[in-house]
Amino acid sequence: MSLLDHLEGKLRAIAAQDLTRFLRAAESPTAPRQRVRGADGLTRELLMFCSNDYLGLADHPRIAQALIEGAEVYGGGSGASHLISGHSIAHERLEDALAAWFAPYIPHAPRALSFCTGYMANLAVLTALGDAEAEIFSEALNHASLIDGTRLAKAKVSRYGHCDLAELRALLQASTARVKLIVTDAVFSMDGDIAPLPALLALAEEFDAWLIVDDAHGFGVLGKTGRGALEHFDLSSERLILIGTLGKAAGLSGAFVAAHATVIEYLLQAARSYIFTTASLPAVAHALLTSLDLIEGDTGAQRRERLRALQQRLRRGIGALLQRRPELGWRLADSETPVQPLIVGGNAEVMRLAAALEQEGLRVPGIRPPTVPKGEARLRITLCATHSDADIDHLLAALEAASA
Ligand SMILES: *Cc1c(COP(=O)(O)O)cnc(C)c1O
Repeated sequence: MSLLDHLEGKLRAIAAQDLTRFLRAAESPTAPRQRVRGADGLTRELLMFCSNDYLGLADHPRIAQALIEGAEVYGGGSGASHLISGHSIAHERLEDALAAWFAPYIPHAPRALSFCTGYMANLAVLTALGDAEAEIFSEALNHASLIDGTRLAKAKVSRYGHCDLAELRALLQASTARVKLIVTDAVFSMDGDIAPLPALLALAEEFDAWLIVDDAHGFGVLGKTGRGALEHFDLSSERLILIGTLGKAAGLSGAFVAAHATVIEYLLQAARSYIFTTASLPAVAHALLTSLDLIEGDTGAQRRERLRALQQRLRRGIGALLQRRPELGWRLADSETPVQPLIVGGNAEVMRLAAALEQEGLRVPGIRPPTVPKGEARLRITLCATHSDADIDHLLAALEAASA
């Protein structure tokens, strides 16, 4: 039983560092109020500040209706990978719609390719483009899926500090690689801040590099029509390779890469996490067209505005609490997105705080190393356009009580 002994030892070590994670099962749709079965086996309705469903589309009646319609037209699974027989007209329409969305930002008829998840899209881009002739310049706070992509890639990998343009410039200057790939989250998933994309693109142009942008948390949220970080900054360049997930603000699941047609054609030929996996449900691709429609229409515009008002209300409230109670040593991250982390410090302290909030009926996840740096454990508060002002006030009051 050497394996079990080995694993039990490792599990004890995880527990000793207050790093044990556990599952809870939701019994109702993703929404600010959700019925959740906890570790104690009891189901309770909780006020959730943890999903990435920023626009509240996961529970939108038109999305559910589109899924039903998709199931009626396309049935269940796709049956095979895209290149065998799993690619449906629904996937094709989704890709065409996304390519049109990003045509203003990636000039000369970009193409889009759909993926089952953002994780797989990131592996695809980094492993296919990051070959032995390439060098990848990777931002320090990139998402785990990008880090795993750099680990699987044959390219040399150079890491630069968070938003450290001077360090990136020095690395680019020193590089002799034939292909240079800068890769960054657009909105940092555990911090909520936005990468300096215009400056990164200027460096890419200066050093003949390409800029890979993972817009998992900007898609749907940033930009006047929700097209994300590229629209937010009004960037335009053939050197942009955009990755977006469709499981967050788009309210469903899946992901896409939008880029120059040649880049996409190469991914189709070479990316193993595209080629060797079953295509997503056509019904989901079908429903995603409704989701794009909601994001760019009045619903999206109203919900983005609502999100900004909620962010301000939360930041004002936490700011006042921290001013009253400086001895707590907490810090609210400097974020203008729905990801609003409250940095608490120790692992045990953050988990105590999360547990106290849960006692009060609120679910705000504690995030610990290795997801964030040691000593910077935090509550990752995420807002959803369907939260009410009273929900925010409830969270503020519960934080105040938990810190007393
Ligand atoms: C969530 C996330 C991903 C992974 O996307 P999935 O579709 O959930 O696999 C990739 N990058 C970032 C920055 C993310 O936050």
